[in-house]
Amino acid sequence: MTVEDQSPSHSTDQTATKPTAAKPTAAKPTAAKPTTPSRSGPVSLLTCTQCGTKNRIRPSPKGVPSCAKCKATLPWLVNATDATFETEATTQVAAVVDLWAPWCGPCRFVGPILEELSREYAGRLKVIKVNVDENPALAQRFDARSIPTLIVLQAGRPVDRIVGALPKTDLAVRLTPYLIRRSPA
Ligand SMILES: [Zn+2]
Repeated sequence: MTVEDQSPSHSTDQTATKPTAAKPTAAKPTAAKPTTPSRSGPVSLLTCTQCGTKNRIRPSPKGVPSCAKCKATLPWLVNATDATFETEATTQVAAVVDLWAPWCGPCRFVGPILEELSREYAGRLKVIKVNVDENPALAQRFDARSIPTLIVLQAGRPVDRIVGALPKTDLAVRLTPYLIRRSPA
């Protein structure tokens, strides 16, 4: 009669007949969570409007992102958090911060408009989306009591504020002065 040895496959400890529930973890090393941010910043996936290539782009204070394959200027739309915002906001081009939340209807109206504008004004505009539910520090900093709220940044400094959902043409008109004026490098 052969009896299969039912040793637990996930355990190499064969000395104990039964795994004890109370495992002594006195010397548990409480290693600090590795929160060291990448020095080169968070990666955003930017799709080329010319050839469809998805480019992995990190924020850069100077210049604008271009497609690795066809060299076309990429629409610059990124998601930022409380942790990554400063890096993302440091840019040579005009930036629009979109303070939004998933439950906000007017935000869903403005979101696609900003995507279109990021394509149409590629190389002159960076759209930085901030989910206010997940990033309370930024929500507080920009006083986002009503959303959608758009903050226009030049050289990282707020220069305009648009509260509520504007139609695309109105939004484009409002943003035009900032798009033609390049921030000093
Ligand atoms: Zn391309």
